[in-house]
Amino acid sequence: MINFDNSATTYPKPAAVANAARAALLHYGGNPGRGGHTLSLQAAQKVFETREKAARMFKAQTENVVFTPNCTFALNMAIKGVLPQGSHVILSDHEHNAAARPVYALSKTKGVSFSVAQTYPDPKATLESFRKLIRPDTRAIVCTAASNVTGAVMPVKALSDLAKQHHIPLIVDAAQACGVLDLTLDDGMDFLCLSGHKALYGPTGTGLLISNGSYQLDTIIEGGTGATSASLEQTPFLPEKLESGTLNTVGIIALAPGLDFVQKMTPKRIYDHEMSLCKRLEDRLRNDERITLYETDRMRSPVLAFNIRGIHSEEAARLLSRKGFAMRGGIQCAALTHKTLGTLDTGVVRFSPSLFNNFRQTDMLAGAILSLKTP
Ligand code: PLP
Repeated sequence: MINFDNSATTYPKPAAVANAARAALLHYGGNPGRGGHTLSLQAAQKVFETREKAARMFKAQTENVVFTPNCTFALNMAIKGVLPQGSHVILSDHEHNAAARPVYALSKTKGVSFSVAQTYPDPKATLESFRKLIRPDTRAIVCTAASNVTGAVMPVKALSDLAKQHHIPLIVDAAQACGVLDLTLDDGMDFLCLSGHKALYGPTGTGLLISNGSYQLDTIIEGGTGATSASLEQTPFLPEKLESGTLNTVGIIALAPGLDFVQKMTPKRIYDHEMSLCKRLEDRLRNDERITLYETDRMRSPVLAFNIRGIHSEEAARLLSRKGFAMRGGIQCAALTHKTLGTLDTGVVRFSPSLFNNFRQTDMLAGAILSLKTP
């Protein structure tokens, strides 16, 4: 099976990631921060090493790097932790449900109102669209750095300037962006929400919430942190404040070689390689009049979304799976994006390569797509 569904999670992982997970299970079995004995201290040291590595990579203070189970959790913590009752938030029309659903839930439970900013190929037009929606009660802007459906890249740096002018936090969903676009806190966002298991090549069950310290978050989960244990109050300082319960030590330890891998290869080279595969597929598909390509006119991350006339995207993905290619059809957990694209009924087929894919595999896929029989 050739995996072209790396936007869901990268697979295969670098060998060093698998080796580190095995070593963690064999040698770092203590619970970090849960005792003064050697096993606990050794596990805590390894977790700290990954935290420091992530802090260096994303230009954050080490204590402002919080480990989460995935990007969804990081987004929930940032969105729910920053929005007060009755406030207003703006999000883009390309958000994943991981960002859109917590906002929607707050609109039901805490009277939070939200506006959806239309986005355009021209970043200036997108910025204007957000600017016009800012109100006196706006308390956050939430924006994906790159769409998980089409790869459309959003003007994060310009949005962070806008957010700063209005003294509101910018929460960036970088699940698809980090690892292929060189995003760090220097780009100005206040919260950077990440998946460790996608383009950072770590294991599933890893995510990161990285902040610049400008805004404090309320916790949405309280519990044991291994610190300030005599008090019933949640630990007030980071990272413990937002890391209640036992951490995914194995995943966090194995994330470190994933980060090393990305840094060694560099996001630019990874982007160039994956984008060349997207262009290759695009060139092969473009001349077939049965095929529709989506948002290829935009600056985008390495994803290609398409449909084949007469075959529903989920059926196309199923047929391609039978031919040995893993691709995702349907809505890709992104209702807002599909509403924007006008594809809520059909969904799209999504091609998302990783550094481990090559031209030969892409050509085989193109051949398989073009040979599908349509009515
Ligand atoms: N945001 C985007 C843009 C995504 O593509 C995804 C997952 O596909 C998520 C958030 C959620 O990430 P996770 O699966 O790590 O919770």
